[in-house]
Amino acid sequence: KARSNGIAGYYIFQRSLHDFAFKRLRLENDLRLALVRGEFVVFYQPIINLSNRKIDSFEALIRWQHPQRGLVSPIEFIPCLEETGSIVPVGMFVLHQACAQLQEWQKTFNSELSISVNLAARQMVYPKLLADIDFILKETNCNPERLKLEVTESGLLEVGQQTIDLLQALRDRGIRISIDDFGTGYSSLAYLQKLPVDTLKIDRVFVKDIQANGENAEIVQAVIQLGKALGKDIIAEGCETNAQVTFLKGIGCDFAQGYHFAEPMDVAHVGKFITKFMGSDLEAMIN
Ligand code: C2E
Ligand code: MG
Ligand code: MG
Ligand code: MG
Repeated sequence: KARSNGIAGYYIFQRSLHDFAFKRLRLENDLRLALVRGEFVVFYQPIINLSNRKIDSFEALIRWQHPQRGLVSPIEFIPCLEETGSIVPVGMFVLHQACAQLQEWQKTFNSELSISVNLAARQMVYPKLLADIDFILKETNCNPERLKLEVTESGLLEVGQQTIDLLQALRDRGIRISIDDFGTGYSSLAYLQKLPVDTLKIDRVFVKDIQANGENAEIVQAVIQLGKALGKDIIAEGCETNAQVTFLKGIGCDFAQGYHFAEPMDVAHVGKFITKFMGSDLEAMIN
């Protein structure tokens, strides 16, 4: 009996392995064509300055407008792009869109906004990264001081001299660096001090139960104090409620991002958002 179960199990295993491999192959093929077919779109989510209650910047977040599946989340395809290496050209597409869009907003709203763009680990070891960034900045006439790049802790996992040199070269251009999803990796104090970065983005898992869960509150407070002692700006990710924002502001957090303010939006909606909050309406969302 055990044996026949084993055989049945084996076939089920084979079957699901086949399904998995097939889906994966189709995803890879679809993704290969997505860039040339113009199926990638960039959404933008505001980052709010809690002190002056103004929009500080927008984070560029990619979406895939799939002909059959509709709008696909980056969680579903970024890992695949990273594995195949396609994140290099796709990442540059996002950077180009974001820099060009920032110029548009500058013209339309005469604003002092900045743009934040995610940089995958794979891009950081791409030899032509700096040359490509320089090219895009020049082509879009974008001020490097208005650009921030978000790198993850895992992307910095092996902080060698090469990584430090790259971050330093970016900063020499005036580009600012954020550590994304901070707290989910393995940063040590020594490591943080060594890294040329400007901003820590506290991962949303720590913001989630910030009042109900005393431990998270302590962690976030400690990160804010540590970050500030090292001269870093702090952004809290995933702020969904007024209470979270009030609490974060109370413990010295300067910047916040999350559904409480706005979800990532397409360009048309961002335009409306900027127009609406050029005045003082954001005060209604921050106590
Ligand atoms: P991330 O860089 O940490 O971006 C923040 C994610 O949190 C976004 O998910 C955003 O929609 C979501 N978020 C923001 N506020 C809230 C909130 O209040 N509640 C909740 N539950 N979620 C919130 P999204 O857009 O699905 O992106 C997921 C991840 O995909 C990003 O995480 C980033 O790691 C990656 N990604 C997105 N675009 C790019 C890109 O252009 N390049 C690279 N390399 N990665 C990207
Ligand atoms: Mg990010
Ligand atoms: Mg993040
Ligand atoms: Mg995150």
